[in-house]
Amino acid sequence: MAEHKLVMGAEMFNALRDTGCIIMAANLRITKGVGRGIFRAARDTDSALIVELARSECNLQGGYTGHTPATYSKACRETAAEVGFDMWALHADHIQIKKGTPEEVEEVKELISAQIDAGYTSFAIDASYLFNFEGKTPEEELAQNIEVTTEVAKFIESKFGHKEFGLEVEVGEIGKTDTGGMVLTTPEEATAYIKALRANGIEPDIIAIANGSTHGNIFDEHGRPIQQVSIDIDLTKRVAGALREQGTGVRIAQHGITGTPTELIYQKFPHGDIIKGNVATHWQNLVWETFKLFAPELYEKAHRWVIETHGKPGKTEEEIFGKSSKLAAKQFFDEIYAMDETTEHALESWTYAEALKFFHAFKSAGSAQKVRDYIANK
Ligand SMILES: [Zn+2]
Repeated sequence: MAEHKLVMGAEMFNALRDTGCIIMAANLRITKGVGRGIFRAARDTDSALIVELARSECNLQGGYTGHTPATYSKACRETAAEVGFDMWALHADHIQIKKGTPEEVEEVKELISAQIDAGYTSFAIDASYLFNFEGKTPEEELAQNIEVTTEVAKFIESKFGHKEFGLEVEVGEIGKTDTGGMVLTTPEEATAYIKALRANGIEPDIIAIANGSTHGNIFDEHGRPIQQVSIDIDLTKRVAGALREQGTGVRIAQHGITGTPTELIYQKFPHGDIIKGNVATHWQNLVWETFKLFAPELYEKAHRWVIETHGKPGKTEEEIFGKSSKLAAKQFFDEIYAMDETTEHALESWTYAEALKFFHAFKSAGSAQKVRDYIANK
């Protein structure tokens, strides 16, 4: 099967804005088996798809997954071509800038250059850490975030020479807590942020906000796994409403979906207010669960390594493994990618079934055709 040209991020967001679906964005920390399962489910439901990895997961040194932008892109392209699926975009998730120093911004630009060379078509600039707690207005609080996001977005635009790439920006640090509980983004903050970026000539397609979710697997105070049901739906709708009133096309990217029951997503999520839904840790969990049965020796080895190297007193092994097993992807890269055919088949099949559930919950079946039509009629 021939390789298709990747969809530019902005084309996908423009085609699907206000069509009532959420585009799944899958982080394939382990591409083997998982990739085929997800691409096959996208093809069979004709759902537009984004595949992504964050700066921490995938960078020029291999991040914690062992993938560089070039190897990740190659793995995804090969899988898409093999499966025969065309409507997908390659997104750089959480290009995180934590300090905002010139050195860090330079490093990020180097990463972005490599991502563009590797064929990435969409980018999430995450300068949400740069928050001035002394600020008296949202503009003051967000000044450094706005400045750095503008600089990096202009850099991406200069590399492409146009604004067809997808642009996600981030205003509230996801999962952040203080003594009063979770710190959530207000509609005023989100609109002030977008307004300031637009005044600088930056036109984001989507915005990530802090709305109650936490990244990864979550646990109660006894170390028992719990569901992700703390996303504040009402707040999300209010932020999206304020963005609409502002008259821009900016909609919401939902982070931290792992652990959210799919029927809750189907029934309660504001589809269309949220237009991108990131699912990351869920796929990694399927890998370990599959290995537990089909590759028990490797599972045991990885489990032991995670507990020995990342264990903390007073924490259950289940919580330690749940939170830190992502780091085993690189540590055991060769052994993981040498999984036998039976294991790969089981992993692919399970991933396929789970991806079907997410595409249904996101109401995205048929969305790929809308993107094809949009591109054809441009
Ligand atoms: Zn995220």
